[in-house]
Amino acid sequence: MMIIMKPNATPQQVENVISHIRAAGLAVHLSQGVETTIIGAIGETHSIPTERFEVLEGVQEVQRITKPYKLASRQFHPENSVFPLDGFTVGGEEIAVIAGPCSVESRAQIIETAHAVKEAGACALRGGVFKPRTSPYAFQGLGEEGLEYLAEAREQTGLPIVVEIMSQTQLDLMVKYVDVLQVGARNMQNFNLLRAIGETRTPVLLKRGLSATIEELLMSAEYILAGGNKQVMLCERGIRTFETATRNTTDINAIPVLKSLTHLPVILDPSHSTGHADFVSAIARAAIAAGADGLIVEVHPNPAQALSDGKQSLKPEAFAQMVKQVGQIAQIMDRRLAAVHGAYAPQGWA
Ligand code: PEP
Ligand code: MN
Repeated sequence: MMIIMKPNATPQQVENVISHIRAAGLAVHLSQGVETTIIGAIGETHSIPTERFEVLEGVQEVQRITKPYKLASRQFHPENSVFPLDGFTVGGEEIAVIAGPCSVESRAQIIETAHAVKEAGACALRGGVFKPRTSPYAFQGLGEEGLEYLAEAREQTGLPIVVEIMSQTQLDLMVKYVDVLQVGARNMQNFNLLRAIGETRTPVLLKRGLSATIEELLMSAEYILAGGNKQVMLCERGIRTFETATRNTTDINAIPVLKSLTHLPVILDPSHSTGHADFVSAIARAAIAAGADGLIVEVHPNPAQALSDGKQSLKPEAFAQMVKQVGQIAQIMDRRLAAVHGAYAPQGWA
């Protein structure tokens, strides 16, 4: 249930509504926008009549949220969620281009890649250290050693780091090092992991599952938001279809559909959604034209030697070319590419 306050409602009136929500045994989620204050009453609300809140002073309207996800819905939070990462913002006017190798393979590899992607215009560095490989015999990642190399790359370039977490047991370690926790496609419905991440205040990049519907993706985001972690960006990374010409099928539709259903930033991964370096740029351009807030792209200095996902990794030169084109499309969309501003200093949620 959403309690929409009158534009001139006083802080005392807001407080009064909040105490009535708590007294009804419901959780409170406050969304204070520029224009309106919306108070979410979350829990078993179906047996509670809306009149109970409609009569309170300062209340303009009470609406029931019809979607199964509440905190993630645009109905609950009409304005775009915008959150800061090292001087740039995600979900606003700026377009975030996150880039780096599928896996951190060595100190030299990640440092070289970090400088190359920064030079080309990326605003954040990606790199996996715990890898969800189909085969248990394939390279599984460097673990903490990889996090140390990533931290050094961040120090040298100022790029915040985005790293995939596979299990709750890695959470304490990961929050010490990373700026954005990536939840991979295979863990989108690992609800215990989502709940644990919801308890942290580290920004999250939540990828869509291989066969997950858009509604299921939003329900997964809801798990994180319900814990109080509001800094969640959603990532379309291709879905399984009958088509085998590409690794996955990019669901471009998901971008405008998600932007209409949710206030959360939406980014696209053209690397996993195509599986081929030759197609990455085209899909990256399409994503920005479709209204995506950013991209996450695999870049490797020597894709032929990569320990994972070499086939879909761009060489730095091809990535630089892609960023140029994406920047031009961003302009047409009245947006601009985010640039990194140097010293890393998270500022909280806007
Ligand atoms: C990755 O980003 O390297 C990855 C494993 O992605 P996904 O979870 O989308 O398959
Ligand atoms: Mn990968």
